[in-house]
Formats: sequence, C-alpha cells, structure tokens
Amino acid sequence: MIGGVAAVAYSDDFERAGELAARAMSRMLTDRLPPNPENFTLWYAYHGGQLPDLTRAIDMAQREGGTLTQSHCDELFKRFFTLDSEAQAIRETSERARSALGKLLELLNAAGAETNRYGHALAGFQGELDEPMSMEDLRAMVAAIAAETTAIVDQQTRLQSQLLDSSQQLAEMRVNLDTARREAMTDGLTGIANRKAFDITLNEAAREAEQEGIPLSLLMVDIDHFKTFNDTHGHLVGDHVLRLVAKLLTECIKGRDTAARYGGEEFSIILPRTALDNALKVAEQVRATVGSRQIVNKSRGASYGTVTLSIGAAQYRPGETLAELVRRADAALYAAKRAGRNRVCGEAGW
Ligand code: GH3
Ligand code: MG
Ligand code: MG
Repeated sequence: MIGGVAAVAYSDDFERAGELAARAMSRMLTDRLPPNPENFTLWYAYHGGQLPDLTRAIDMAQREGGTLTQSHCDELFKRFFTLDSEAQAIRETSERARSALGKLLELLNAAGAETNRYGHALAGFQGELDEPMSMEDLRAMVAAIAAETTAIVDQQTRLQSQLLDSSQQLAEMRVNLDTARREAMTDGLTGIANRKAFDITLNEAAREAEQEGIPLSLLMVDIDHFKTFNDTHGHLVGDHVLRLVAKLLTECIKGRDTAARYGGEEFSIILPRTALDNALKVAEQVRATVGSRQIVNKSRGASYGTVTLSIGAAQYRPGETLAELVRRADAALYAAKRAGRNRVCGEAGW
C-alpha cells in the first residue's frame, strides 16, 4: 500500500466495535473476499457508517452489480483510506528532498576537504622550492603538482555534474508538488474545481469584494430528480451527466468566474464583480444551456433525454460569513425546487 491510512476517528466501545468487526468478517466470508486488513477496514467502516460517502458508493455499486469484487474493494480502499495525493506528495517529496540535501552536504564537505588537502599539498611544494634541488627532484615535483591538480579538476568536474543532477532532481520535485496541489484542488470525476478549491476561491473573492467595495454573487446549482435518472439509466450514465454538466457550466462562465462541484450532484458558481441581477442572467443562461442539451452515448447510439437544473442565487453582504452566503443561495435553490424545478430563484428580500 502506498501512503498511509487516512484519519478516521473510531470511537466505538467494546460491544459496538465487536459487533462491527463480526459483521465485517461475515460479510467478507459471504462475498469470498480475503479477510485482509484492507478489506476489513473497508467493511468495518461501511457497517459503522463513519464515512457516508463510502457507504453511499458501496450501496450504489451493490444495487447495480450485486456483490463487490476485490478490484472494486481495492479502488474504494484507495479512495477512502489512503492519504490524498497532496499529503502523499508532500511526504514523498520531503523524504526525497531530505536525502538529496544530505547527499549535497556530503559532496560539498568532501569537496572542501579535498580542496584543503590540495592547498596543503601546494604549500608543501612551495616549501620544497625554497630548498636547492636536483633536476630529477624538480621533475618529480612538477609531475606531482600536475597529478594533484588533475585529481582536483576531476573532483570539481564530478562535483559540478552531481550538483547539476541534484538541481534537476529538485526541479522535478517542485513539478510533483505543483501537480499534487492541482490534483488536490480538482474534482476527480468532472475535472473542475472541487469543494476545497471552492472554499479557497470563495474566501478570496469575498476578501476582494470587501476590500474593493465590489459585488460578488454565488449560484448554487442542483440537478433535478437525479436519483430517478440514476435509477433509470445506471450510475455510469449518471457520472457521464455530471461530467457533461460540469463542462457546460464551465462554458457558460467567464475567465474570473469559478464553477465547482460542491458535492454529489450539486455544483456552485462563484461570480466575482457581479451583482445579483447579472448573476440571475448567468444562472438563466446555465439553466437553458443544460436543459436543452440531449444526453447521448454516441458509441452506443443511446439517447437518455435531458436533465434540468434548479439554481439559487445570492449576493454577498459585506461582513457576513461565507456560511451565511451559502445558506441564502441554498435557500433560493430550494425555493426553485419547491416552485416546480427547472428554474432560477434569487434570494428572498433583495
Ligand atoms: P431533487 O430534484 O430534489 O434534487 O431530486 P434528486 O433526486 O436530484 O435529489 P436527491 O438529493 O434525493 O438525490 C441526489 C442523487 O444524486 C442521489 C445520487 O443517486 C446521485 N448522485 C450523487 N452523487 C453522485 C455521483 O457521484 N454519481 C452519480 N451517478 N450519482 C450521484
Ligand atoms: Mg438533485
Ligand atoms: Mg442535491
């Protein structure tokens, strides 16, 4: 296993833990899954319900495919119990950086000692030159100086190439960290910003709005009756729809706006420098674009009709917490649901 086990807080007492362990065990035996620590971790957490997303993913897979295969379990274990890519890259890179720095220091120390030795050798030769010497002695001394000099030049050349090597390794580590950071901010399924990126971006946008006295709006977007869609066409087609919606959302916005997957089948759009009236226009554009798009699988020649969106919009009020802003946009989204779905609602009392 690469990485470590993610932090899941288990607070079950003796009886409860024993019961969950027994259920996990019996589950693995029934489904002929090897009762190894990874499978045990997965099924213990499933029965314990500590990770609702894990429980949902397993329930969904079971509804469609019956029992879970080992490769499905492996995939779920990796997704829920190994460190996220950012934490893993930080750990790996800091270990590599520590060893690269140790090697560099060793090299520089060795090079320093060698240069010192060379300096002493030269000083020795200088001392010898003060004494009268024969032609033979002088020839021998010149040969010795040449040999010492060749040795130090060789050593410096080696040092230079090792330093170059190390600097390339360090550059590679930086790229790895950048990639991990990007991955940590990206939703794995749809490729757009994830919840973590949403939180960071909304925070920055609110700070800018506050400092510059400019408006900021937020759209909360939810796919209508998506559970029915999944139940009818299967969750793989559902996943395809999530990717399509993410793509269409991105196409409907401008460079400074951010579309993110907020969670499940819910998206959000951050609209900096935008007041509510214009946010409502963007929302309407998004709603119309998605609602008119036929969902097809070209390779299978299958058509799954359309999905519609309900959208709630709210404008940031300087000084309020971001949770309040999200809550108002959410309330507007639920007003859109209650009013019949496939529509846009602005926050109340604006
Ligand atoms: P509403 O119009 O009230 O929003 O109805 P709904 O069915 O969309 O709402 P509900 O919250 O009851 O169901 C959301 C569904 O979204 C449940 C789940 O099947 C589906 N869903 C959530 N995340 C994913 C995902 O990653 N992939 C797929 N395929 N479906 C998902
Ligand atoms: Mg929904
Ligand atoms: Mg929802």
